[in-house]
Amino acid sequence: MKVLLVRPKYSSILVNLEPLGLEYVGGMLNGINIYYEIFDAFNMVSLFLFERLVHKISSQGFTHIGFHVNANSVDYCLDTARRLKKKLPHLKILMGGPHVELNYKDFCIEEVDYVCYDNGLESLERCYKENFKIEILKNANGIAYREGSGKWVFREKSPAICRYHVKPDRREFYKGLRKNFILCKGSYAIVRGSFSCPYNCSFCYCTRMNNGQYTERDMEELLEEIREIEHKNIWIMDDDFLINTERVRAFCNKIIDGEIQKKLMIYGRADSIVRNKEIMPLLYRAGVRDIMVGLEAVTDKLLDVYNKETTRNINEEAIEILRENNIVCNGLFVLSHESNRKYFKELVSFIRKKKLLWVVFGIFTPYKGTAAYEEYEAQVKHLPSKKMDGAHITVKPLHMSSFEFKMRFYLLHLLFYPRLFIRSWRKSAYETRNDGWF
Ligand code: SF4
Repeated sequence: MKVLLVRPKYSSILVNLEPLGLEYVGGMLNGINIYYEIFDAFNMVSLFLFERLVHKISSQGFTHIGFHVNANSVDYCLDTARRLKKKLPHLKILMGGPHVELNYKDFCIEEVDYVCYDNGLESLERCYKENFKIEILKNANGIAYREGSGKWVFREKSPAICRYHVKPDRREFYKGLRKNFILCKGSYAIVRGSFSCPYNCSFCYCTRMNNGQYTERDMEELLEEIREIEHKNIWIMDDDFLINTERVRAFCNKIIDGEIQKKLMIYGRADSIVRNKEIMPLLYRAGVRDIMVGLEAVTDKLLDVYNKETTRNINEEAIEILRENNIVCNGLFVLSHESNRKYFKELVSFIRKKKLLWVVFGIFTPYKGTAAYEEYEAQVKHLPSKKMDGAHITVKPLHMSSFEFKMRFYLLHLLFYPRLFIRSWRKSAYETRNDGWF
């Protein structure tokens, strides 16, 4: 058995990070002595991409292929599976990844052999170890397969996990370091210290992962992983790293005592920042320099529509707390189709007033599997999946034409990114109290 793991093609000028999910699968395959490679099509040019994939499979004798599917790569993965099966009928095709976890039935087509939607990798490991024998599949949680009659069989998922039983194989990270980047920040390794999120923002699918249960990984194990990574910049991808104050405090103390010298980036909700105000200096001493904050909107009304459970005042307070503690607030905003011209102006004035340098704008996208999708299904279900990326209009704007909405979206970048570029070039983009252009 030889396994090829595919990260689908997608182009982004904002970010290109390691394929952590596939590195975990790679680590699992290493543990059972199965040869694998990652075909990282992320930023590959489209020209002859399929032919290159076929050549790789045929020339190196891969017997199994696994696709890591996100919302924006559904069409690519299904289409490639169909074409591959026609060309290489004996190739076994497996679908997995975050989008599959929530929407596995969409992948149960004739050309696909297995669909993995389980929590963790233990079930998948047993299947690979025993070459997907039917008697193993019959007892494999979270793996869909076809019976002899062609009918798909589904088994329930394993209980929520709080750790993977294997370590990620980071060879792909080191190999891809030259291409690894976050705009204006440089290259980052990523780690995960918890699973799912206890909040319920309507547009977010993170909260529904891991059976919708928030769990935390053993801290010693997380620290060990961070220590072992031979790279200075680490992004802890937990949906809100600040949920558990005592855990965060202990984490920071251990980082400091253990002299683990890394530059850390985390996600943190605005209300969690306010709640943890007194430990911000500790976070700074532990190396946290960036917090990604889902500010999302500048009116309480819209925050309520998103079910964000925060307010504009809380957002403002969080921004100030981070500024005072020399931690960069990376403000993430979601532009709703309900936004009118006045709202766009209000957003611009909010960012100016709060002197936010680092901002990211996304267009409201009802991803399948979220509460928002249930509301907007009729409008989005026939759109090509590549539009489901936060940079395309998926729900028709209520107060202006789609063209104007898109122009205003671009204009926000034009207004706020030049200063960020100049400050990054001048190496002053992390001086949180510097409000100027240089
Ligand atoms: S947007 Fe953030 S806080 Fe809200 S559910 Fe998703 S991960 Fe949790």
